[in-house]
Amino acid sequence: MIRYDPRAVEDKWRKIWEERGTNRVDLDKAARPFYNLMMFPYPSAEGLHVGNVFAFVGSDIQGRYHRLLGHDVFEPLGFDAFGMHSENFALKTGRHPADLVPQNIARFREQLQKIGLMVDWSRQVDTTSPEYYRWTQWIFLTLYKNGLAYKKKGPVNWCPSCQTVLAAEQVIDGECERCGVPVGKKDLEQWYFRTTAYAEELLDDLDHIDWSERTKTAQRNWIGRSRGAEVAFQVENGPAFKIFTTRADTLFGVTYMVFSPEHPLLAEITAPDHQAALIAYQAQAARLSEVDRQAEGREKTGVFTGAWAINPVNGERIPIWAADYVLMGYGTGAIMAVPAHDQRDFDFARKFNLPVRQVVSPDGRPAGHMDEAYLGPGLLVNSGAFDGLAAQEAGAAAITDHLAGRGLAEPKVNYRLRDWCLSRQRYWGPPIPIIYCENCGIRAVEEKDLPVLLPGLEDYRPDGQGLSPLRRDEAFYRTICPECGAPATRETDVSDNFLCSAWYFYRYPATEFDDRPFDRDRLRKWLPVDLYVGGNEHAVLHLLYSRWLCRALKACGALDFEEPYRRFVAHGLIVSDGAKMSKSRGNVINPDEYIDQYGADSFRMYLMFMGAYLEGGDFREGGVKAMKAFLDRFWAAVLPEEGRPLDEAEPDGETRRALHRAIKAVTADLARFSYNTAIARIMELINHLTKNRVKNREVSEAAVRLLAPLAPHAAEELWSLLGHDGTVFQGGWPAYDEAATLLDQVEYVVQIGGKVRGRTRLPAGLAQAEAEPLIMADPNLAKWLKGRTVLKKVFVPDKLLNLTLKEDSG
Ligand SMILES: [Zn+2]
Ligand SMILES: [Zn+2]
Repeated sequence: MIRYDPRAVEDKWRKIWEERGTNRVDLDKAARPFYNLMMFPYPSAEGLHVGNVFAFVGSDIQGRYHRLLGHDVFEPLGFDAFGMHSENFALKTGRHPADLVPQNIARFREQLQKIGLMVDWSRQVDTTSPEYYRWTQWIFLTLYKNGLAYKKKGPVNWCPSCQTVLAAEQVIDGECERCGVPVGKKDLEQWYFRTTAYAEELLDDLDHIDWSERTKTAQRNWIGRSRGAEVAFQVENGPAFKIFTTRADTLFGVTYMVFSPEHPLLAEITAPDHQAALIAYQAQAARLSEVDRQAEGREKTGVFTGAWAINPVNGERIPIWAADYVLMGYGTGAIMAVPAHDQRDFDFARKFNLPVRQVVSPDGRPAGHMDEAYLGPGLLVNSGAFDGLAAQEAGAAAITDHLAGRGLAEPKVNYRLRDWCLSRQRYWGPPIPIIYCENCGIRAVEEKDLPVLLPGLEDYRPDGQGLSPLRRDEAFYRTICPECGAPATRETDVSDNFLCSAWYFYRYPATEFDDRPFDRDRLRKWLPVDLYVGGNEHAVLHLLYSRWLCRALKACGALDFEEPYRRFVAHGLIVSDGAKMSKSRGNVINPDEYIDQYGADSFRMYLMFMGAYLEGGDFREGGVKAMKAFLDRFWAAVLPEEGRPLDEAEPDGETRRALHRAIKAVTADLARFSYNTAIARIMELINHLTKNRVKNREVSEAAVRLLAPLAPHAAEELWSLLGHDGTVFQGGWPAYDEAATLLDQVEYVVQIGGKVRGRTRLPAGLAQAEAEPLIMADPNLAKWLKGRTVLKKVFVPDKLLNLTLKEDSG
């Protein structure tokens, strides 16, 4: 028998796949299209991370499994190479990203090919190539022309380390998603996408898509719908303003109002003798991040404006304060404060000696004194005509109705989601295709003039003042107006890298077209994506942006569907020897070393075996070697031996049962991404074959196909050694016979006095002590045995129970 030599086998099959185009699919003729998508990587200089390999292999197994099931599987891959990661690394090493990125991509691709993914490399995309970002710019313009992109000045998240603004989704626990530095605020004019336009649809459609539940939950929380009312208050001798509340039932408990320090109305309403204090306070608030401002348990700060509001429910005068715990970006930037029933308001009232008035009581009787805010259910008190109503929903509806009748309130739904801030004051991204003309204002670059090429700047460092590096390139910056021909200037910000990655999967099936971003016919056939596998850390970043963009492009008439992915599955994360992988811990796993030593198939199998794919696993030294030893055993078990060909007959009963049980279990396990248990089932089958020295063609061929999605190179070689010409992936997925998976049953005959009196089916191989009580339990035997004594029993295993009875004396 030929020994299993992974390096020879893997080199051979990668070459054959390439030559024969095994991984390619005819996009136009495919009869059963299945779009198997994995999140494309950012090609870092460090090379492929084992976390990437883990993610890709789990996705590739699905692609290969579906191919064995008879689907035409499209499994493309590309590179997400624009953005700060690449640029920061280039700055650190003194290289230019335009030199660095192609090298990184080449190295990544070489590493990725070694893993044996079923990727059609002829359809690779690279977001930094002009052929690609030309269409990223086209998408920006399409959105702009349809009112879904706009420019606005306001406070934005600013990362002092990356020296650029960030979208709300890219600030995680107050820190920059890229570099981990605390994010501050800056007042800048920026481009936005109107993500809030589809907040409701993005939320409601989560109920209809087949996604990992934790990913859906993360999106629901981020979009953050709250139902309540918008209530109009009047400033005494001043203008009216609106607040949003989910607790209109507590309106009688309002004892002060709070405006965000950034609220535009403050300048107008603040009393002259309070102006200086307000301005000082505004400056102080501007130095804090939103997260710091809202931190739990933080000492409350604020200033009185000297202005008063009138409570619309009872005409009371209420003091108006400015305080930084209220944010401008949420609701209307002003709140009604009900210290008796909101803890933050309670803390604020305590500090500034403002009154606390209870309006909800658990028993309907007001308490004398409150030590903390009461948040529970109860009945309204101190609320005039509304006393006695149930608090929360019923009370809120009644009071809102009452005010609505006077035009002072209306029911309102509020979302936490913000518009997507798209501008980046950095170099390494697609320039935003906009021109500013003194005569014509903001003008879109003409479609025929796309792409707006990113110039090869020598000095591409960010300047830290909010001015983009492209502004320093006069040849880029100066242009002429496409409308009037007058001298004009270009937008010098580039767009957020997350725009590049929000549409890449529409491009894969259209890489040969240079006159359109995507092909409508192809999209109709292949989209929405059938299966998308990726990390849950993208739940409210890439996955939310791409869902929004799909909907937006549909609204613009560019796409025919609203949801980009039919199914999304979030994989788990892997650790190394129980700890998160990091350079400082010295536990970073280099995939190349393992692949060189044991082969890609052993590496793939071990990654899938070390834990549940959806939960993650712990990479242990020695695991890959053990998996190689298993593949050696597999190899020896399924191939004929010297002088001992495979048995061409049906396998024996025990083997048949072991095989069908394995097929059934592996089929179910692959469908639910339970790769570790699937591998354990294959191991059981191989153990059976080895132990019983079974060499059977039907079993060997089925076992090789079960192995194929997990260890594709080895399976191809074994398939070929078993005498097949084509690829194992055209071999079909083995079917199983449900009956064959059950334990074998035998029929016992029961004789009494030499005559057949009963028949019972029982599992084969039972001992007399196990079988006899089961046979005797047959109720039909009772009439023959009633009142008689058994003299003698003869038991023949799997066949017979013969009873001799004492003859009746009577
Ligand atoms: Zn940063
Ligand atoms: Zn003009």
